[in-house]
Amino acid sequence: MGQAKETIIVCSAHSDDFVIGAGGAIANYTNEGKKVIAVVFSYGEKSHPWLKEQIVQKMRSEETLEASKLLKCETIFYDLRELHFLEDAKSRGVYEKFTALLRKEKPVKIFTHSNEDPHPDHKGVHEITLTCVTKLQRKKPEVYIYSVWNPVSFKTIYPKLYVDISKTFSLKLAALKTFHSQKIHVAYPFVLLLFRAITEGFRIRKKFGEKFFRIR
Ligand SMILES: [Zn+2]
Repeated sequence: MGQAKETIIVCSAHSDDFVIGAGGAIANYTNEGKKVIAVVFSYGEKSHPWLKEQIVQKMRSEETLEASKLLKCETIFYDLRELHFLEDAKSRGVYEKFTALLRKEKPVKIFTHSNEDPHPDHKGVHEITLTCVTKLQRKKPEVYIYSVWNPVSFKTIYPKLYVDISKTFSLKLAALKTFHSQKIHVAYPFVLLLFRAITEGFRIRKKFGEKFFRIR
């Protein structure tokens, strides 16, 4: 019997956030043999109001699973409605589900959204994550925040974590390309992602990097 695999959990409000914010780091960790679970809190059915919710959910979950396959992580979906995260998390038992997941998996690290993120769903996931982590009695995981499109963070005093993603940046882009249903949403930001990866990589003298802040 070998030692249990180290587990890392990445919280994601919408199906593509974890790829944008931490896709490179996820691929790094799974390449090192660690177990990574992406928790997607909403399918984001609002993006295609002309389609039935179930169709969008199916489309989104298939795309997400395709992306996860590339990054070699597992994926769990919760079904919070966009812009109703905290209300639904309460009524749909998501606090309990997520706390149970933390107790079962005992992650050493958790990556989540920033509370400075202007998107209410991203803020919501931040709050849910911290509420559930705080409830853990025994060894608590390290908690990091990542940014989606806004820079995180302007005023922070939190210690930074830079991850060298030179070897996995192409995988991150490939994973992001699986989100066909969000083409308009992700078309422009490839340039921004490239710029950011180069900027963060420069800080650690690597080709590409991802930056996180440790808040716990
Ligand atoms: Zn999002």
